Amino acid sequence: MTELLLYFAAGLLLGLVVAGLAGAKTLNRWKKAAAELEAELRSHSFELQITLDELAEKNQQLQQQTQVDALSGIYNRAYFDSQMRAEIKRSRREQRVLALVLLDIDHFKRINDTHGHLAGDEAIKQVSAFIRQQLKRSADKLFRYGGEEFALILPNTNLQGAWQLAEKIRQNLETAQKTTEQSFELRLSAGCYAAIPGPESDNDDYIRFADSALYRAKEAGRNQVHSYPATAAVAFRALSGEVNEH
Ligand code: GH3
Ligand code: MG
Ligand code: MG
Repeated sequence: MTELLLYFAAGLLLGLVVAGLAGAKTLNRWKKAAAELEAELRSHSFELQITLDELAEKNQQLQQQTQVDALSGIYNRAYFDSQMRAEIKRSRREQRVLALVLLDIDHFKRINDTHGHLAGDEAIKQVSAFIRQQLKRSADKLFRYGGEEFALILPNTNLQGAWQLAEKIRQNLETAQKTTEQSFELRLSAGCYAAIPGPESDNDDYIRFADSALYRAKEAGRNQVHSYPATAAVAFRALSGEVNEH
């Protein structure tokens, strides 16, 4: 009987050991499977992150394409419209003065007619890059407003500041062009307007006033900067003349 009990106990023990071994094996297999799964998940989330980064980059490129003019590389007209609206709103809210400058290449048609459309395109690129170089404040933005017309949105800038910047651009372009080896010289005329936007002010008001000043600059002989109201630019010119004489 005792012998039988001993056999039984030994059998039970063996059974437990075998079962334990089998259990450990299964556990190991599970652990391995879990580790593999974790590695796979990590690699998938890495791939997902790469895809997300690529998507963000594409998005940025796409956004840039919709904001930037393909020929000149500066901001386009559509972006001008939305930025102008946003700046008017912001300046109205903060009761700050906002300036708009419209610049137009003088006698551009002649360049196209005499030297061809490609030379005209090059001239637009050159002038865009030149104006951009002259800007010092990060808030100031340059746009290609039309064919050979440019717009500068200058937040927090009064009429005198806008006139001075436009005049500096005009003068520097004239000086740079005098030493160019190009067969034609480029000149700019500009019109400036600045105001704290009233409750009803919109893009059209700013454009209308700046454009009327530009029109007067053309009428007066080109290669000059005018303002709205007209008398202001006369005073600024006199002042800058005094400064230059000293
Ligand atoms: P003004 O001094 O009065 O400004 O005379 P202008 O000849 O510059 O002005 P006008 O508006 O009569 O002519 C502008 C010309 O610009 C007409 C148009 O054919 C040309 N133009 C518009 N967009 C482009 C462009 O992308 N490339 C080229 N090459 N020419 C363009
Ligand atoms: Mg022109
Ligand atoms: Mg024009």
